[in-house]
Amino acid sequence: MSDYKSILEKIRLAFPTPTSDKVHEAYFIHTILRTLDHVDDLKSSAPVLGFRNNQEPQSWNEIPENFSNVEWSIHQITEYLSGLTIWGHPNAQTNVVPPTTIPSIVGNLIGAIYNPNMVGIDYSSRVAKAEQEVSKICANLIGYDAEQSVGLFTFGGTGTNFYGTKIGLEKACPGTLQTGITQKTVVFASETAHYCKLSISAWLGIGMNNVVIIPTNENNSMDVQIFEQKLRETLAAGTRVAAIVATMGTTDSFGIDPLQEIHDIRNRCVEEFNLDYRPHIHADSVIGWIWSVFNDYDFSKNSLGFSIRTLRRLSDSARRIKQLHLADSIGIDFHKTGFTPYTSSLFLLKNRPDLELLNRSEESIPYIKQDKSYCPGIYTLEASRGGAAPLAAMANMLLFGKEGYQVLLGHLVEMAENLRESLEVHGNITCVNSYNYGSVTLFRVYPEGVDAETMFQNEMRNPEYAASLEKHNELNRLVHDYIYREALEGRGAMLSLTENYRSSSYGKPIVAIKSYVMSPFTTAPVVQTIPAKILEALAVVQAELKSQALLAPETA
Ligand SMILES: *Cc1c(COP(=O)(O)O)cnc(C)c1O
Repeated sequence: MSDYKSILEKIRLAFPTPTSDKVHEAYFIHTILRTLDHVDDLKSSAPVLGFRNNQEPQSWNEIPENFSNVEWSIHQITEYLSGLTIWGHPNAQTNVVPPTTIPSIVGNLIGAIYNPNMVGIDYSSRVAKAEQEVSKICANLIGYDAEQSVGLFTFGGTGTNFYGTKIGLEKACPGTLQTGITQKTVVFASETAHYCKLSISAWLGIGMNNVVIIPTNENNSMDVQIFEQKLRETLAAGTRVAAIVATMGTTDSFGIDPLQEIHDIRNRCVEEFNLDYRPHIHADSVIGWIWSVFNDYDFSKNSLGFSIRTLRRLSDSARRIKQLHLADSIGIDFHKTGFTPYTSSLFLLKNRPDLELLNRSEESIPYIKQDKSYCPGIYTLEASRGGAAPLAAMANMLLFGKEGYQVLLGHLVEMAENLRESLEVHGNITCVNSYNYGSVTLFRVYPEGVDAETMFQNEMRNPEYAASLEKHNELNRLVHDYIYREALEGRGAMLSLTENYRSSSYGKPIVAIKSYVMSPFTTAPVVQTIPAKILEALAVVQAELKSQALLAPETA
């Protein structure tokens, strides 16, 4: 039996010291250093963290009986990192998952240590200012009036879309906060918009069936003619429109919707249909927002010396992203193209008064003091919101500046350009997001001798090629699996697979292999090894398929 006081002594050691105590502080820092060192040992040439002693770590199902100690519990949790992709590895190109910068990590760390809660001013103090200042910085960056706009951090890009749609719902159907939805209300979004359009409509009570999904053009942006037609039909039927979501950088292919046209169509319809509200336009720019660092880049002068092709790609995207300020609200994921840890997402609203549509009564939260200048507890869906997110975001804004982000984005796009060039050499490989100019490259591989571009065009448009599409979908899955296994062994790039980057014109999913360059450490020689690896994979897969066919029992 141990006396509780002796255990309490040990428990105290597990907390950082509340008053300055250099010895204890040193212990804390040392613990962090040792942890990092410990994880560093899991690294190899592969873009994943390995297993200690090549052993499967222990699993836990029950809370232990007794208090353990700091070292042991940390040791246990580091084991959970085994198998995780190292996002900053030059060969890690799986998705829009960023490596995180040192200042943003420290932003998270001090947020974790001092633990501000952004529910109200008492629990967040000046960290609340970080939230407001990041909002202002972003408003100015994308072209909102920083004095008129307001921002808040929320639970991911999904959360930013959620807020946009909710405010739009309240505009379209005033009073739903009290009454719930009493009439049919729809949301517009493109086919390649993020799937959160469905979850949000489901959770808000709008209903997934009430998401009007607009087909996309071959550049993966919303077809505005169909949009206009559907919007008119909707309004003519007297149905209310909660939100029009313009995706500014789609997840898979970096398609950018024509916001200006969507905006103009909306305005014309408000007049023509004599609407008593203005359907809310939310720009889902969680990926694309960062291209606004190029809003005032002089592309003809090109002071940073990007290559001509990269320059063209950057300016093409920047030209569209420049329209962001037309949206009534936008979403920003720092944890994607801002290079901070998860989760750090900013919902930015053009007109501050719109936020009042979400207000609960102040009496409903008696235990949290709300300041006149800062009262998130009244309008946020969340109660507790951690302060690490705005601290990390602010750290990166101040670290990179416009120029830093221009350089990093320019490099990533340059690497994607390099990859495309080296893929294009091969007749049996084709890039399928040719008109999208981010750092993501989607491509399909075909058997040796097949003209990939012609075959792909047929598969995309001609229902007679449905079987061929499916067969080659499977081929690409197998090729990807081989590349992935090789990458795990430290041989070549780690790519990913998207099961449906878009549908064919006759409604079948199109599989593509994806390279998403997100690491500043990725270099041209690294991406140029990818085509050879693909051809190697193709040869292995085709040989396997052939021998399986030979072994298969006769079906005749
Ligand atoms: C990633 C993404 C989302 C969802 O963001 P989370 O942070 O994962 O919730 C929404 N829209 C787009 C375009 C995205 O790429």
